[in-house]
Amino acid sequence: MAETSETLLLRAPLSGVLLPLAAVPDPVFADGMFGDGLGIDPLSDTVVAPCDGIVVHLAATGHALTLQAPCGAQVLVHVGVDTVLLRGEGFAPCVAQGDAVRQGDALIRFDLDRVARQARSLVTVMALANGNAFTVAGRTDALRAEAGRTVVLKVRAVAGAASAASAGAAAPACQADGTGPAALRRTVTLACAGGLHARPAARARAAMQGLDATVALHYGGRHASLASLVALLALAAGEGATVELVASGRDASAALEAVARELQRTAAGEEQAAPAAGAAPASVGTSALTGTSGELPPGCIGGVAAAPGIAIGVLHWWREATPEPHEAGQGMEAERAALRAALAAVDARLAHDSEAASARGARAEAGIFAMHRALLEDPALLGAADTLIDAGKSAGFAWREATGAEAAVLSAMADRRAAERAADLLDLGKRVLRALAGNAAADVSVDMPTVMPTDADGQPVVLAADEFTPSDLTGLDCDRVAALAMVRGGPTSHAAIIARQLGIPCLVALGSALERLPDGTPVIVDGDNARLHASPDAHLLAAVASAVRLRTQRRQADLHAAHAAATTRDGVRIEVAANIGSVDDARNAVAHGADAVGLLRTELLFLHGDAAPAAADHTAACQAIAEALGGRSAIVRTLDIGGDKDAAWLRLPAEDNPALGLRGVRLAQVRPQLLDEQLRGLLAVRARAPLRILLPMVSEVGELLHWRARIRALAAAAGHDADADAQIEVGVMIEVPAAALLADQLAEHADFFSIGTNDLTQYTLAMDRCQPELAARMDALHPAVLRMIAATTEGAARHGRWVGVCGALAGDPLAVPVLLGLGVTELSVDAGLVPGIKARVRTLSLADCRQRAAGLLQLPSAAAVRDACRHYWPA
Ligand code: PEP
Ligand code: MG
Repeated sequence: MAETSETLLLRAPLSGVLLPLAAVPDPVFADGMFGDGLGIDPLSDTVVAPCDGIVVHLAATGHALTLQAPCGAQVLVHVGVDTVLLRGEGFAPCVAQGDAVRQGDALIRFDLDRVARQARSLVTVMALANGNAFTVAGRTDALRAEAGRTVVLKVRAVAGAASAASAGAAAPACQADGTGPAALRRTVTLACAGGLHARPAARARAAMQGLDATVALHYGGRHASLASLVALLALAAGEGATVELVASGRDASAALEAVARELQRTAAGEEQAAPAAGAAPASVGTSALTGTSGELPPGCIGGVAAAPGIAIGVLHWWREATPEPHEAGQGMEAERAALRAALAAVDARLAHDSEAASARGARAEAGIFAMHRALLEDPALLGAADTLIDAGKSAGFAWREATGAEAAVLSAMADRRAAERAADLLDLGKRVLRALAGNAAADVSVDMPTVMPTDADGQPVVLAADEFTPSDLTGLDCDRVAALAMVRGGPTSHAAIIARQLGIPCLVALGSALERLPDGTPVIVDGDNARLHASPDAHLLAAVASAVRLRTQRRQADLHAAHAAATTRDGVRIEVAANIGSVDDARNAVAHGADAVGLLRTELLFLHGDAAPAAADHTAACQAIAEALGGRSAIVRTLDIGGDKDAAWLRLPAEDNPALGLRGVRLAQVRPQLLDEQLRGLLAVRARAPLRILLPMVSEVGELLHWRARIRALAAAAGHDADADAQIEVGVMIEVPAAALLADQLAEHADFFSIGTNDLTQYTLAMDRCQPELAARMDALHPAVLRMIAATTEGAARHGRWVGVCGALAGDPLAVPVLLGLGVTELSVDAGLVPGIKARVRTLSLADCRQRAAGLLQLPSAAAVRDACRHYWPA
């Protein structure tokens, strides 16, 4: 075989016996899922470069790499079968990702004996990774090959890529991704926390839906079409990485903008994975997220806390009932149809779960299910499964192998988040297998009976697993499952996010020590201190049981008294209201005794739509909420989209720093229509109690005056009384330091203030509220934030205005006396916290709070403020 300008010759990467690909003992390779190529039963221990090129991917476990030749062809060399499971043992890469190598250079050395003993097979595969652009044009007849010498394959670009191949090195790579010479390019730096993991990838994909364009991402010499989430994840592009976007098609320019915008945005919805500002000690213990160090007492297993709280129960291992598919299929047509039907059933289930989560305001959970839906359509997965079906396999077998193979690639990656996302793929694998087995409709109901213990005598259960997946937890019976414990997993895994939203303690990464505990072991899960106590002695058990009992009793008593007013010991009534984002939340608020709604986050009602809400949509949504509130007043915040809250339908140019950009009322600068529609809609709501309007992200009085005038004009146009402005109360959200410092000016024209401590803390301390690394320091009890609050209440008092707090600080029992002492008269918190906060108010004397609060502003840190609060007002 001779090399021409059109072809590339590949030499044997190892000495050994040559095999056709079909003889490789792994269906993933044998059926050409990774592209055409050959197998080698090795007789040497050093993989050498089959051609000149760049190492575009090196598995973290060192058992495989991909080389890109100058013409753009990508050649995978994968040593042995299932060798990823050796986790790098026995492999020593001689090159690093990004290295340029010459044909014959050593790439990977491996311990032949060790790998032969531990792996399923030593047979090594060399295959084309971008088989859509390059094809095998010839192969040797030889039975044996000598490493670096024997030419074994001849490769050429497929028709259409050939001319570009001769035009230069970059062009074929571009065409390989479906983009042509007229493609538009731009580079972006990934802002999403954790880099290009599944959710930003899915969002980027969704952003260009409906546009006539194809977009590819180039990073580290690798390319991935935006159509394939799996390929995007395999780029392993981390936070801060600069990637190149290449778009072609009629709408290339718009697509480029839309995708760039998504990639430059910090992760939406993920703030729920991190503790809320101001809730540090009561919410997810941030120190716990970093794991434990130091000596642990005997019987105590250290892990990583993924959700806070303490629970006692008997350990019960989750035994999943995933059907085992037959390998052989019953005909291509039938198997393809069965797979499509199962995918559709799972998609419908996920759509339902996603909507239900959105309606509850569980944004992170909704995002997980939406991302799973995107994976269901992933062309790489579908293509791989179809290839196996075409080779005679059953739909279930094909889907399991396809998801399993991609999950293996992801879990081998060094990027922790990508590796955690492997669990999502395996989860989808299970869901589809259950659907194929006829369980689709009962997907939820069949899960729980299989996990509920029969031997626990009705005691609370601590459910344990190697690693839970989101579908395992769908429909979990929280009355019986007291906590979750995982051998592996991470605090950012989707199962961990769901555990937090379910409100049950969860520990991950407990390791093999957990595996050794049998079913029925009594355990204490301490999600506050990231440890699990196995078989605790009677003394510890009694102490923890009494603490848990006290918490439960106190909660029940608080709930009982929740419908009464919260009045301080010296007789001052404090309004305790609820923060809501849906009609369900409104009902929940009423059930928990909320006096009113202190913050309706209207953007949550419309984040998941596919078009901007019209006036009628706003009216309908708010009317339903007003009715659910049964005569309670509500503060309706106008749309606060932007920053970390994203709506797919709002296509705006990318911002380098969205938290400081077009958020809240500022959005109206570029989309005045958006706020006008909302105001028109709100003015049409007929409610029994006042609906107050709250403007987010105001930073100067001109904005307030502008919107007051606008409300007056819209009210007049809608036929309201001439003095409508006098009837509609308009408040300002104090969440920007400028607003706090100018509170006296704003108070002249505002009816009330509501302090958003989440953003006020972010902007005062210059710490991104979504940055997990800073979460421990994002404490709203910081004296600088308290001074902002004091400036606000002082400014308000000059004009006789009242001040509420709707940020997470209002729900922190330790902070309540401080806020009251500084002059706050309304606290708006998550519905579930209302009973506890009302109870806390009842223990306090306002005079005492006032007297002590001023002194706290002089302390040097949030920790000092917390210590002082514990001392003055023990919770
Ligand atoms: C806040 O910033 O404190 C607030 C309540 O608003 P959001 O959390 O919706 O930004
Ligand atoms: Mg805010």
